[in-house]
Amino acid sequence: MSGNSSKRPYAAVAVPLPIPRTLDYLVPRSLGLRALPGVRVRVTVGRRKLTGVVVERHDRSPDSTEIKFKPIEGVIDLAPILPPELMDLAGFVSEYYLAPIGEVYRALLPSGLEAWGSQRVWLSDRGALAGTARELDEEKILEALRPGGRISLAELEEVCGGIPIHEAVERLRQKGWLSVSESRSRGSRYVTAVELAKGALEELLEKCGRSKPGRAVVEWLANAGRPALRSELEAELEVSPGVVRRLITLGVLRSFTQIARLELTQHRAEYRTESGAEASRNSRIVLRPDQAAAVDSLLAALDARRFRPFLLHGMTGSGKTEVYLRAVEKVLAAEGSAILLVPEIALVPVLAQALRERFGKHAAILHSGLSAPERHQEWQRIRSGEARLVLGPRSAIFAPVRNLQLVVVDEEHDSAYKQGSTPRYNARDVALWRGREADATVALVSATPSFESRLNVERAKLSPLVLTERVGIGELPESVLVDLRESNEIRRPGTVHFSPRLLAEMEEAFSAGDQVILLRNRRGYSPALLCRACGEDLRCDDCGLPRTFHKRFGELQCHYCGSRRSVPDACPSCGESALEPIGTGTERVEEDFKKRFPSVPVAVLDRDAVRRRGGATNVLDRFGRGETRALIGTQMVAKGHHFPGVALAAVLQADAYLSFPDFRAVERTYNLLIQLGGRAGRGERKGKFLIQTYHPEHYAIQAVVAHDDRAFREEEMRFRRIFHYPPFTRMVQLLVRDSNRERALQTAERLAHELGRRAPDVGGIRAGAGDVRVIGPAPAAFERLRGKWRFQILVRAQSASRVRRLVQASLPERAGSEIIVDVDPMELL
Ligand code: ADP
Ligand code: ZN
Repeated sequence: MSGNSSKRPYAAVAVPLPIPRTLDYLVPRSLGLRALPGVRVRVTVGRRKLTGVVVERHDRSPDSTEIKFKPIEGVIDLAPILPPELMDLAGFVSEYYLAPIGEVYRALLPSGLEAWGSQRVWLSDRGALAGTARELDEEKILEALRPGGRISLAELEEVCGGIPIHEAVERLRQKGWLSVSESRSRGSRYVTAVELAKGALEELLEKCGRSKPGRAVVEWLANAGRPALRSELEAELEVSPGVVRRLITLGVLRSFTQIARLELTQHRAEYRTESGAEASRNSRIVLRPDQAAAVDSLLAALDARRFRPFLLHGMTGSGKTEVYLRAVEKVLAAEGSAILLVPEIALVPVLAQALRERFGKHAAILHSGLSAPERHQEWQRIRSGEARLVLGPRSAIFAPVRNLQLVVVDEEHDSAYKQGSTPRYNARDVALWRGREADATVALVSATPSFESRLNVERAKLSPLVLTERVGIGELPESVLVDLRESNEIRRPGTVHFSPRLLAEMEEAFSAGDQVILLRNRRGYSPALLCRACGEDLRCDDCGLPRTFHKRFGELQCHYCGSRRSVPDACPSCGESALEPIGTGTERVEEDFKKRFPSVPVAVLDRDAVRRRGGATNVLDRFGRGETRALIGTQMVAKGHHFPGVALAAVLQADAYLSFPDFRAVERTYNLLIQLGGRAGRGERKGKFLIQTYHPEHYAIQAVVAHDDRAFREEEMRFRRIFHYPPFTRMVQLLVRDSNRERALQTAERLAHELGRRAPDVGGIRAGAGDVRVIGPAPAAFERLRGKWRFQILVRAQSASRVRRLVQASLPERAGSEIIVDVDPMELL
């Protein structure tokens, strides 16, 4: 470089690699106007070619190290695809969760976004009528587009003689003179349609000449008064494709391609439900006084246009949904946007349907069944402001909505909001951050709020909204405890099925024409298959844990790594044919149920059922219509469903998780039981909730039986406080993984040592070793998973920033083994 002191442009680029920060690249002059923050660029790292996102531009004087900087090789987008708020959000997520910025961007952007060169442009009606443009480059573009049709930006650039066109295209697009869209890509729903060109009908007919089929097409279209699909015309009029093609060449018809706007109702057949009627009934719901008060508070907060977070707490069936939907209505009426998060979209078909009916085209529903182009299309609809209500799972918190006024997080306590891979964010907490930045109202909603939220109410960081009554006859179900220790018949291990009391209750419910929900939180037939002759239990080689027996598939599946193999006829160790299923999963419960109640139609809802076509929605619909009378399943059956016909809900073994080595195990059990109990007695009759357990005296189970949320909260808070668990401390889990056990342990020990050494001096003035706690290394709850040994270190302190700073400072540049950092972990596995 010459000794030139003038500044040169650099861009900080986030690349999808596990490196904490952005990398700097030189911006070549030719890309200077396009390499703006929020566009994707092509760069090389080492030898790898990657797509990154420009995070920042900064100009600075070249220094001696400059030689090391590589240039940006290409700019992918015409204009920034991410608005500044989302870039800030990405920065926050990266910093707070100690996650590589590039991986955060990867989570933020829908996959399959296209490069700008393959996007297509065409003249809008306004552009066609506009006459000449003042700028030369604009005029060149218009000229190229006037013949009609769509061409790709790359082609357009070529036609215009290679001049840089992106700025002019952007100006024209903003004036509304031309439109830019995605090219056809595989897997999406594109249609080719034609419409009559402009001009009088007689003129168009004249242009057809003597071609009879041609005239027929024109007349048909004139009659229909709308564009038609080419395939439709060909079928309707039995004309050959050549006829239509000729009419296009003659300028009689205008042809265009578009992504068929997904008609979500017809598109997802499994969403079609009886609930349409219910949804319209809902719009006439008269709010109870407690609901009305909650709605008023939300509406007042919306009016104030300041950040205001709420906790909407009401027992199951208290009508919380209706409360937040009223707030959504107001936001949409005020031209604002709302994001509505749910733990799992497949489990809320009724809500999705209700939103469609109530909010129509304003709603974008991001479910996992969308193909990449469909997801992308919804993303664009949101980005353009066409869709202003977004319903989706945790990733929907990154939806590029405009003018965000409301975020609702339903079932805010649910661990599904926490992402299990990098970036390990919790959408509930990101929602609060995003809400604050946008001056929006945030409503966390739950019947069993998380302890973090409960404490935030006590500390006045969340305003409580409480619903006190319930739908139907308004009474919570009567609870029945069955002590499994007393029931000899089912003491044999692995045969936790139906106690006599449960059988009697089911009998009664079915003969009264009512429905029953049974929860068994294990899928498959049995959690293990054991050889009675030699004790072999067919563990997964990689995880060291027994494989689950799936009788229907004739498979043994490892639920930790997903590996599967077929069931051997005889024990692979001793050769005896003595393999016996140990324990009970949903499949076995179903089998047993069918033996006992052969005439009662039953269905199973678990991950396996969801994977089938029609999946969860199908199962839920049929149960909702009463076609099936018993629903057996995992925790999925406990989620917010509203089935007035359910008289009895039962859990086959309530304490399955109580003794799990995770400080949230009790909370999770309590939440699950409350949710399940809430399914019963939503109609005109009081319901029953039957709990089979080995620990009837446990405080969580006692609190469920007594409907005493306060008692549970106090006992659990005491436990958390004494043992310095969240919410009283902030926690980071460090998990060291390695296929070599020694190396994993060594890395973990070194890391723990480093943490301990630095602990006293983090946090400045208030620092004190007494506050920061470093526990471990210890073998993780699952010591070996997917072939890797795992050791865990837990770091805790009063202040979140202090824990994070300590961890950040102590992480080695290069560790011998993989280290996973989980800030605010939900599950310690
Ligand atoms: P939650 O989410 O609190 O468990 P839901 O919102 O699912 O409860 O409400 C349960 C049912 O009660 C829904 O069908 C809902 O439409 C209905 N509902 C809600 N509020 C009222 C009301 N004020 N009057 C009558 N029905 C209501
Ligand atoms: Zn495995």
